[in-house]
Amino acid sequence: MSYVGPDFEPPRPPRHPLRGPLTVAVAALVPGALVGWLVWQAVGDSGEDGSATRASASSSALDDGKKQPDGGIGRSGDGEQPGASPSATASAPAASGPLKGKVVVIDPGHNPGNFQHTSDINRKVNIGTNWKECDTTGTSTNAGYTEARFTLDVSRRLRAILEKEGATVKFTQDGDRAWGPCVDERAEIGNKAGADAVVSVHADGSAAGNRGFHLILPGSVRSGAADTRPIVASSRDLGERIAKSFRLTTGSAPSNYIGGGTGLDVRKDLGGLNLSTVPKVFIECGNMRDSKDASQLTSGTWRQKAAQGISDGIVSFLHG
Ligand code: ZN
Repeated sequence: MSYVGPDFEPPRPPRHPLRGPLTVAVAALVPGALVGWLVWQAVGDSGEDGSATRASASSSALDDGKKQPDGGIGRSGDGEQPGASPSATASAPAASGPLKGKVVVIDPGHNPGNFQHTSDINRKVNIGTNWKECDTTGTSTNAGYTEARFTLDVSRRLRAILEKEGATVKFTQDGDRAWGPCVDERAEIGNKAGADAVVSVHADGSAAGNRGFHLILPGSVRSGAADTRPIVASSRDLGERIAKSFRLTTGSAPSNYIGGGTGLDVRKDLGGLNLSTVPKVFIECGNMRDSKDASQLTSGTWRQKAAQGISDGIVSFLHG
């Protein structure tokens, strides 16, 4: 994330000019991928490549950050994931499942359009304790894969999983608006939905060598419109459960630069947390500016594991 404001101007997301030819090439590679998958199944290879191949064979992986043959079997890089809905607040009818009757709000951090609306997102909004920028651009990998694309992709995967569990899922934005929303509106969407849990999805932009994930929990704040006291304990519970499950599904270690190895950080300066009246956490899934973390964040296979880990934590929290 980039809470202190944009300090760089990453390149626009690539427009996939070779998508057509690549699709043809990938189609030609499908039989090979299937053979690879069968071999993988037979020998039980659990390495990175094996995992990626297995996921591609089931057409569940998207991989828009790497050029590898599993990238596009029937799907494009982002914006067309399973479970993607046409509108920001769209939600499938609640299915039967363990989360039936539960409302989860997912807040994909930033917005791919923020880079083109700097004056809009730089407008100050009141977060109770302070005035802050409406929204920020977020960070990106050194190769230009933006945090805003990452957050939408993980969020859509997360929605698909949660809806299968029967939850009613709402988004703060689904790539369907030009910019934003502002951080105060992001909080308000969760509040108005009466959400049982809210997760704001991010990836960090720290120095190379800084690695791992962390959850950001609301500190106790009472100032102006902000009063987090009723949600501090429940949000910590939510965050601790997600940290545990995220580590299990992704195999990632907690941050080596924030949280003292716990994977947990407490902040009082984030409008999205300060203004929330329902249990809410942020997750920083990794550091986009570290090459090793970036190789994971740009992998569709890894992002699916990330979404599963977040979902597992939410399910655990809602089952109490
Ligand atoms: Zn962010």
